[in-house]
Amino acid sequence: MVSASLEMNGVMDYSEKDAMSIVKIKWALVRIVYFYIYIAMLSGFGMVIFAPIITYYFFGDIRFWRYSGYFFPIMRLAYLMTYLMFRDRKYSFHRSLPLTAPPLTGPDPAKVRVSDQWQHDEKSCNSCIRCCLKLNCPFLDLKENKCAVYDSVYWRYFNCGRFPLSQEDIDFYECRKWEMKRN
Ligand code: SF4
Ligand code: SF4
Repeated sequence: MVSASLEMNGVMDYSEKDAMSIVKIKWALVRIVYFYIYIAMLSGFGMVIFAPIITYYFFGDIRFWRYSGYFFPIMRLAYLMTYLMFRDRKYSFHRSLPLTAPPLTGPDPAKVRVSDQWQHDEKSCNSCIRCCLKLNCPFLDLKENKCAVYDSVYWRYFNCGRFPLSQEDIDFYECRKWEMKRN
C-alpha cells in the first residue's frame, strides 16, 4: 500500500510538473512571438502584416482597424525603447525578465514593498502617472487618466503589470511608491 501510494504521488508530481512545463512553454511562446512582432514593427511593414496580432497583444482585439490612430505612436515607442535598451543602462525593459516568467498584475511582494514615504493608499498610485509619462506612452489616456491597454497581454507579460522589477526600474521611472526589500 505504501509503495502504491508513493507511486501515485510520483505520478501526481510528474503530471503537475508536466502541466507547469506546458504553461511555461506557453508563457515563453507569447514573449517570443512578441519579440518577432516587435522587430517587425520597427520596419513599419510589420505593423501592417501583423496588425491583428499586434492589436490583440495590446487591446485583446484582432479588429486592428479600430486602433489605426495608435499605428505611428506604437512605432515611435518601439524605436524609443530600442534606443534606450542600447543607450541607457538603467532602462531594463525585457532584460531581467526570463521568457518563462509568469504574467503578473503586480510587483513581486517578496522583492518589493511600498515605501514608508508613500502617504497614499497602498493599492493605488494616487493619480500618479509618472512612469507612463516617462516614455510618453501612447497608451496613456490623459483625458481619463488611465491606461488604454490595462491588463492586456502586453501589460501582463512585460514591464507594466509587474513594475518594478529592480532598483534600476524604480530609479529610471523616478517612482516614489515602491522600494526594493533589503534581504
Ligand atoms: S501602464 Fe499603460 S499607460 Fe502606463 S506605461 Fe504601461 S502601457 Fe503605458
Ligand atoms: S511612478 Fe510609481 S507611483 Fe507613479 S504611477 Fe508609476 S508605479 Fe505608480
